[in-house]
Amino acid sequence: MAATQKTRLALEGGQPSLSSPLPPMYPGGLRIDEEEEQAVLEVLRSRRLFRYYGPSPGPSKVAALEKAYSEYAGVRHCVAVTSGTAALICALVGLGIGPGDEVIVPAYTWMATASAVVAVGAVPILAEVDASLTLDPGALRRKISPYTRAVIPVHMRGAPCRMREILAVAREHGLKVLEDAAQANGASFGQAKVGSMGDAGAFSLQFNKIITSGEGGLVTTNDDSVEERILMYKDVVGGQRNNLPPERILMGVNYRMPELLGAVALVQLRRLDRLLGDMRYRKQTLKSNIAPALDRRGGQFRTINDAEGDAAVALIFYLPEAASAQRVAAALEAEGVGAMVLYSPENVDYHVYAHWAPIMNRRTWSEAASPWKNHGRDITYSIDTCPRTLDLLSRAVHIDVSPDLTNTQVEEMTEAIHKVMRLAL
Ligand SMILES: *Cc1c(COP(=O)(O)O)cnc(C)c1O
Repeated sequence: MAATQKTRLALEGGQPSLSSPLPPMYPGGLRIDEEEEQAVLEVLRSRRLFRYYGPSPGPSKVAALEKAYSEYAGVRHCVAVTSGTAALICALVGLGIGPGDEVIVPAYTWMATASAVVAVGAVPILAEVDASLTLDPGALRRKISPYTRAVIPVHMRGAPCRMREILAVAREHGLKVLEDAAQANGASFGQAKVGSMGDAGAFSLQFNKIITSGEGGLVTTNDDSVEERILMYKDVVGGQRNNLPPERILMGVNYRMPELLGAVALVQLRRLDRLLGDMRYRKQTLKSNIAPALDRRGGQFRTINDAEGDAAVALIFYLPEAASAQRVAAALEAEGVGAMVLYSPENVDYHVYAHWAPIMNRRTWSEAASPWKNHGRDITYSIDTCPRTLDLLSRAVHIDVSPDLTNTQVEEMTEAIHKVMRLAL
């Protein structure tokens, strides 16, 4: 009886392959322990909750985080802000992007990438991703117009973009490059850390990301003048605080990171390399375990542009058809392996452009300030804007690779995938 239950899909009444629930995908979040507690207590006990002053002088946690991160990423400057979206907005402002400009973004990314472009008054232009699920350099080239000023390659689901080609196209056309590394903290391409290759990089420390302070963001740049502009923008008095002459100071708002977040993020940064190692080991094991079975079914792993640089947060494979991908994901889900297909028309998911209702419908807070209304040419979006992206995503089965998977869980996941590949296609 055990044998028949093991060869029947859980979806059809068999015994699920997973004997315990898998850990939720909060890699850094689940490793919060006494060190984060201690760091937060230090800040509370000092009563210095604000970066620039408090009753006790002492060093700033946020300043220490910026210094540690710029060393980690190998960049000249890092500026801490309140979210990944804030990091993108500050970076765009730092790069001088604004009304009248077009910024090319991939059709597969968290909608915040496109929202940040609109927030600075520019128009997002959607471009196809390739089988790596990151921006296709050929598509980038085809989307360039006389209005294009910048491109935002997004290192999606932990994996680096084809940076060499993207940088070459950008250089050829005088475009600024802003790397959105919100989902790929610590990843690299050809030894260079993400966020260190373009004109600027943006990271998120939101709870779902690799390392976290609940909310938070970081901007990286090697360009002194970009950093100076960001310092002025992320703080109403940033210009004065950084001793810039009044005639140079540009208007700023407030995206300053609080000390309590800086304290947590600084501890989390020390955990990053261990987290990456744990995810990489588990992903590699799963991949080699299931490669022959996937191959027999005509499936293919997502292309990884630099296997060593992959942050390895996710295992993604394509099946020949959307319908089989849906069946496999549903069957895996029943086995206890959290699996999803990356695009389904009926499941609203703000990672896929087709579901970005406010962008697709060009809805902004003020008609007069609509970047589309004031633009030099008419830009509209439809479900047909990036068909290749939708085709890839609709055939892509996604499985989280938690750094906390036990050996038993990795074995049971392997067993589940084998069973499903045998029976559910
Ligand atoms: C999470 C995310 C953001 C936004 O970060 P927040 O901290 O949530 O504002 C931007 N881009 C990508 C690709 C993301 O995954």
